[in-house]
Amino acid sequence: MKAAKMNYFRELLVIQMITLQHAVGKTISGMRTDTGKCADSLDMAAVEFDRQLELSMRGRERGIIQEIREALQRIDRGLFGVCDRCGEVISEKRLLARPTSRLCRDCQQRQENAQRSINPWIPEESASSSHTGVGY
Ligand SMILES: [Zn+2]
Repeated sequence: MKAAKMNYFRELLVIQMITLQHAVGKTISGMRTDTGKCADSLDMAAVEFDRQLELSMRGRERGIIQEIREALQRIDRGLFGVCDRCGEVISEKRLLARPTSRLCRDCQQRQENAQRSINPWIPEESASSSHTGVGY
């Protein structure tokens, strides 16, 4: 991938990270102002429910922030846009839709199929001599 494109993706990822961090910060400050307002126990239950909801949302956002951090590290190492599993180049279209993608479309599909499968038995030959060290 050309340096200019790398920089483009880096900026894209940084912007996404800042936006998410901002959202997480907002959630936390929102939680602080909400508590203490209601004395009623029914309201307290509602507040607790909202809090749980927000906390799980925050967990998801944190997960995404972590993914973005890893993508930025891959940019630094020159590994960005390369499939973790097969070493093929991940299409730009796919990267634009999801810059944190670590797998090419085929490998992603294969992984999803394997996860969906009730009996995830995979034939020996496709357990491959993967140079990434990711195998079954
Ligand atoms: Zn792949």
